[in-house]
Amino acid sequence: MAGRLRRALRAVADKIGKEEPVVSYTVRFEKDFGIFGLLHLPANCRDQRVVHYLRLFSRMTVKLTTTHTSEEREGAYKLMSLGDGVGMAPRRLATGFAWLPGKTSELKCPIQDCHHGPQPHSVYGYIRIITNKHVVYNEDEALATQGEFWDEEVLGKAYSASSRRISVQCVSLEFCQEDNDAAHLWCVTHDPWLCSDLELEMSELRHRYSQIPLDIWERAKSLCVTVSHPHGMRKMITIGRHMRVVETSSRSHAHYHSCATCPGSSGAPVLYTSPEIQGALPMWLPAVHSYYCPSEDINCAFK
Ligand SMILES: [Zn+2]
Ligand SMILES: [Zn+2]
Repeated sequence: MAGRLRRALRAVADKIGKEEPVVSYTVRFEKDFGIFGLLHLPANCRDQRVVHYLRLFSRMTVKLTTTHTSEEREGAYKLMSLGDGVGMAPRRLATGFAWLPGKTSELKCPIQDCHHGPQPHSVYGYIRIITNKHVVYNEDEALATQGEFWDEEVLGKAYSASSRRISVQCVSLEFCQEDNDAAHLWCVTHDPWLCSDLELEMSELRHRYSQIPLDIWERAKSLCVTVSHPHGMRKMITIGRHMRVVETSSRSHAHYHSCATCPGSSGAPVLYTSPEIQGALPMWLPAVHSYYCPSEDINCAFK
């Protein structure tokens, strides 16, 4: 895996190197790879405020595991269900992210045969998690989907090997769309702190973003950043270029980018800034990484 990723990165670095001298690092929140920091950013936007923003942003990313693949899948969605397995089919691994998790409350646990036992107990939710439709195709697959927030990269805490994983259970499919491969899930957690942590972090994220002057993003030109769990492994930030944007038939937008991805990165949030795109806040509302196109050696995310 590491070899394949390194090769992919080198290929991206070579390609980018021909056009611009900077950009393309992969950073893993692990000792071997180092904690994401200033030197991993391209020189034209190397600013501590950007580092803090991206590290906090990465907190919203969640590893997803789905243990059911629906018989109802059709066409491309049937084929795409094969993409993210890691030899333990039917378990499929992917990425998602909580965005505007919203107001949450304490609820009676709705999970059938919950491993917390048959006695009535509470869960907290609902947390909205965004991913791909090819990851969670319908309600049946949604009910067989779990997420894990990894607590290792909270700001102000050093990485520790004993980092906490907080799991969430998907309880329904809020929304999905074929044309842009989008699926929005509603999830609950037994962890009493996760929801309030996410709400706080979301408002902190807005604050951090507002502290970054727009000209930093202008200087960054076509910066693109993804956060995902490649192969279901530890969270990884990859940096590349936003290549181009194309409108789809349903007026969604396909964003082509060069950030390194692997199986398991489907559904990852993709932040970008591009001189091509006017009128939207740069590096704010993420697109959702969908697929890698080998013939063009390019990645596609939708928004
Ligand atoms: Zn329960
Ligand atoms: Zn890989």
